[in-house]
Amino acid sequence: MPDTNQDCLFCRIIRGEIPAKKVYEDEQVFAFEDIDPKAPTHVLVVPKKHFAGLKEARAEDAEWIGRCHLAAAHIARQRNIENGYRTVLNVGPGAGQSVFHLHVHLLGGRALGWPPG
Ligand code: AMP
Ligand code: ZN
Repeated sequence: MPDTNQDCLFCRIIRGEIPAKKVYEDEQVFAFEDIDPKAPTHVLVVPKKHFAGLKEARAEDAEWIGRCHLAAAHIARQRNIENGYRTVLNVGPGAGQSVFHLHVHLLGGRALGWPPG
C-alpha cells in the first residue's frame, strides 16, 4: 500500500479499517459512495497515495490525479449518466473541503446547475 496516513479518514477507508460502499478499485484508485449524497450518483474517487489536496499536489502527483478522473469517467459510463455529470475537487475550507485527502466527487443522475454554489 503506497504512502497512506495513519489517522486520515480516507486512508483508513482504503485500508478497510472503516466500512464504505466500494464502487471501484484498481492499483492507484479507490472509489466509494459518499455517505451524504448530493445527487443520485455521488461517488468519491481517491488516490491510494495520501496527499491533502490539489494545493499540496506536486508534479509527481499528476498521474494520481489523472487516474482519479479517468476512474470517475469509467464509473459514469457504467452508470449511464454520460449525458451530464460533474467531477469536482473542493480545494480548501472556503470551497467546502472537509477531508484533507484529495478526492474527486463524481456527481450525476440529475440536472446540474451552473455555476455551482
Ligand atoms: P469535501 O467536503 O469536498 O472534503 O468532501 C468530503 C466528502 O466526504 C463529503 O461529501 C462527505 O459527505 C464525505 N464523507 C465523510 N465521511 C465519509 C465516510 N465515512 N464515508 C463516505 N463519505 C464520507
Ligand atoms: Zn489519506
